[in-house]
Amino acid sequence: MNVLKDMYKSIGLDERILALGKEVEASLEERFDTIDKTAEYNQIKVLHAMQKNRVAEAHFSGSTGYGYNDMGRENLEQVYADVFHAQAALVRPQITCGTHALSVALSANVRPGDEILSPVGKPYDTLEEVIGIRPSKGSLKEYGVSYAQADLKEDGSFDFEAIGRAINERTKLATIQRSKGYASRPTLSVEQIGELIAFIKSKKQDIICMVDNCYGEFTETLEPTDVGADLCVGSLIKNPGGGLAPCGGYIAGQEEYVEQAAFRLSAPGLGKEVGASLGLSQTLYQGFFLAPVVTAGAVKGAVFAAALYERLGFPVYPSSATKRHDIIQAVDLGSPEALKAFCLGIQAAAPVDSFVTPEPWAMPGYDSDVIMAAGAFIQGSSIELSADGPLKPPYTVFFQGGLTWYHAKTGILMSAQKLLEANVIAL
Ligand SMILES: *Cc1c(COP(=O)(O)O)cnc(C)c1O
Repeated sequence: MNVLKDMYKSIGLDERILALGKEVEASLEERFDTIDKTAEYNQIKVLHAMQKNRVAEAHFSGSTGYGYNDMGRENLEQVYADVFHAQAALVRPQITCGTHALSVALSANVRPGDEILSPVGKPYDTLEEVIGIRPSKGSLKEYGVSYAQADLKEDGSFDFEAIGRAINERTKLATIQRSKGYASRPTLSVEQIGELIAFIKSKKQDIICMVDNCYGEFTETLEPTDVGADLCVGSLIKNPGGGLAPCGGYIAGQEEYVEQAAFRLSAPGLGKEVGASLGLSQTLYQGFFLAPVVTAGAVKGAVFAAALYERLGFPVYPSSATKRHDIIQAVDLGSPEALKAFCLGIQAAAPVDSFVTPEPWAMPGYDSDVIMAAGAFIQGSSIELSADGPLKPPYTVFFQGGLTWYHAKTGILMSAQKLLEANVIAL
């Protein structure tokens, strides 16, 4: 395979890095095989849903204006519902991002006087403002919705006692975040989510259990709706968009709750009936079709990064041996130089903006500068190869995505290359 080696060298990778990468990859054969099996299962699951719903060319034509009678949109929502084994789904380009999808699902299904419970600790940063944990204009708190939280135990497991204590007659909805996101807790498996939901329902049957499914889709053969989640919510510029969706979000689950979300997204009385698909349906179908394999490539990238940085002696979360339930990999790089070099490598490996040098920057909502690397076709898409981290100890980088496994691998090798060039590591 000398031609392959030469090809890698031509983009700036060193012999030593290539040798390390080869060794690490060889050690992961079994892991990769399991990831491929999950992708295979999910590929057939999506294919089956498309066939069952008789997807046809007519579904790709799209609509404008009000978007009444948009067959393609309605059928795509049924395909999503079937893949999630849910009664209904809302899949719309008008949902601008994951935060918006979550905000719509939450605010649609609570009323003044109700309480939202997070039984898994602090939710994703942007949700703090949606809920009003951090004061924010238009937050649910301003509408008289209160919030309660039960933290995970030290070891990352559920604190059932605290959850039981937090549930009261006002508890209307439990928001359960599957992925650790950018927190230091472990990501939840679908099985664990099922146990948590069963416990919550045993305390109070009518609590709506909503799962923030961002980054989790297709990493396992089951989705949270398979284990009792009433609502499952995510972003189309992450896993389920397959890298092709240019924007959008989805809300899948019980018909009643999805319908509420539709009334919140458009307007009371209008609901699901409106919302032009603007010719995007074909891309959303196609992205969803590719999503199982794209997600598998990103999961392989995460495991490969963990294994490679473990070998280089850095603390990694989760470890290379941990079973994956999302696509995020964290590495403690230990110094600002290392964090910058890592991000430089990811950027240099991108198909877009590869010539750019990422610099740390002050970002709203962060108490330190943040550095980000992303050379994506879709702005902010984190199913594409990307990395970011706050410039503060222990200088953790969060790495995710890669539209193909080969690209994820190249990105990780390039990050190590830049660490080598910066004399952070020696080989
Ligand atoms: C990305 C993400 C969100 C928010 O999605 P945006 O598209 O960035 O608004 C919410 N929750 C989790 C766990 C995420 O990973």
